[in-house]
Amino acid sequence: MMKVGIVGGGQLARLLVLAGYNLGLQFQILDPAIDACAGQLAYLIKGNYEDISRLKQLAEWADVVTFDFENVPATAARILEEQVAVYPQAQTLYIAQDRFCEKTLFLELGIPTTLFATVDSLDELRRAVIKLDLPAVLKTRRLGYDGKGQRVLRILDDVESAWQELGGVPLILEELVPFEREVSVLAVRGIDGETKFYPLVENYHRDGILRLSRVPCRDQMLEFQGYNYTRCVLDHLNYIGLLAVEFFVKKGCLIANEIAPRVHNSGHWTIDGAETSQFENHLRAILGLPLGSTSLLGPCIMLNCIGAMPELARVLAVQDTHYHFYGKTRRFGRKVGHLTLRVNDSDKLRACLNVLLPLVGLTIDEFLEWSY
Ligand code: AMP
Repeated sequence: MMKVGIVGGGQLARLLVLAGYNLGLQFQILDPAIDACAGQLAYLIKGNYEDISRLKQLAEWADVVTFDFENVPATAARILEEQVAVYPQAQTLYIAQDRFCEKTLFLELGIPTTLFATVDSLDELRRAVIKLDLPAVLKTRRLGYDGKGQRVLRILDDVESAWQELGGVPLILEELVPFEREVSVLAVRGIDGETKFYPLVENYHRDGILRLSRVPCRDQMLEFQGYNYTRCVLDHLNYIGLLAVEFFVKKGCLIANEIAPRVHNSGHWTIDGAETSQFENHLRAILGLPLGSTSLLGPCIMLNCIGAMPELARVLAVQDTHYHFYGKTRRFGRKVGHLTLRVNDSDKLRACLNVLLPLVGLTIDEFLEWSY
């Protein structure tokens, strides 16, 4: 039996475990939280990501180690790499952990990205605002996710308060992109370099948190461009596993926002809507197994459940809807599960969304405004 170690025990680890059990894989998870939700399904090593003895314990047991989030210290990945195969590699984590390194990589590879400037002092912030103009977004270079560690600057009066809020750690100022939509490319690359792409995904965020993804995307023409950019990133990093690249679409062109070197929330629909899920394909890739087909089974909409799950019976009453609960306690702003609706007919889609959207805190008007 092949043994997979996962650093981080959140929902992504849990969904990897669920996919991997069907392949006959075994799992151990390293997480500092005793109640990490993947620990309900696999043996949990409770320990910090810097804890060398715990990292070694995981590395000794596993045939391969992977991550459920990219903010594991790169030093931890290097310690693991001394003992066991680790994908993605420490070097990739290092780049993806820092928005400046990530954007520099995009520029090096000729991939359009947002205008940006690094900011380490209030003076630098003022100079960056003059260079980029307002509105702009100030972000922490590291450890930001789901819109955390970000502040939009609209008028000059915002500059000092944003600095008070976020200053003290390395920052980056980005132009605020007036995008038409947001899309992501999910790709999987095997140990032999074979690469497969899922259909381009269209994403809707509210307050920096992904609320809804849908495939196929309405801008099918962008798919080819997105695949090319993503292939450049994968080949440059000699990447193994599933990787997502998030883009803004502005005036019909792609502008790269960030890389996620892991399975990604905008790929959760693949469990019910693709021939092989992103989770299974990530495991296949890191274990050197043949990759599965990434074909779409039919149009899908994935809805994130934020804070609390909707009532099971009410969701299941909507035909063609799949319920995924992560085993987490309810908490404001927390991703606790997702729903996937897979329906071909547009009238039926509208009827289903009328029921489902309010159950996850969205309105049909908000959806229609986003959709058209
Ligand atoms: P991020 O953590 O960079 O993925 O940002 C989360 C979300 O905030 C993005 O998906 C966008 O909806 C929004 N956002 C972040 N950066 C920008 C930007 N430079 N311009 C416009 N919107 C942004």
